[in-house]
Amino acid sequence: METASTNQHQLTDEKWQAIIHNDASYDGSFFYAVKTTRIFCRPSCKSKAPNKENVRIFANPQQALTAKFRPCKRCKPTGQRLPDREWVEQITQYIDEHFRERLTLESLAEECHGSPYHLHRTFKRIKGVTPVEYVQQTRIQAAQEMLVHTDHSIAEIASSVGMQNTPYFMTLFKKMTGRTPTEYRQFTHNLPSAEVFVHEK
Ligand SMILES: [Zn+2]
Repeated sequence: METASTNQHQLTDEKWQAIIHNDASYDGSFFYAVKTTRIFCRPSCKSKAPNKENVRIFANPQQALTAKFRPCKRCKPTGQRLPDREWVEQITQYIDEHFRERLTLESLAEECHGSPYHLHRTFKRIKGVTPVEYVQQTRIQAAQEMLVHTDHSIAEIASSVGMQNTPYFMTLFKKMTGRTPTEYRQFTHNLPSAEVFVHEK
């Protein structure tokens, strides 16, 4: 992960690895040009790996065009595509709205128009957690709210946050919060309400 201005034109090892492995999860985050051919590409381009010393890095296609490089006909780096950050925002929103339903990496990828692999890699790179981890966090947070604010059984809560398998829900809950759902409910009932949630029932 890089900060914008300082090294956005540097050929870091991370960028070089992305280029030689044609890593599509970096598409949109930088473009690379080859001085000998005068052509520039997306990281994922399947063209022959360039010599490292001939590579120049650009943050966007306009910079490469200004520097008199031509867009590669194979990977079409000037073509319009959704920036990764906006795409991940859409995926996040989809999860927030649908976490109570059955979600898999495959169904997410289908809904959000990308391959499961690309979605997983891009999401992780931008959010710091995998899509599956994000779904789990969202479900456990919703369950925490319900444990405090409702009298529903553990199984009902598990099912209503999209987890039909109650034992698995309990295991995951304990792993993520350090307490079982029952312990969590008892623990929060013994706290002054303000320490649990700002909005009390
Ligand atoms: Zn290319």
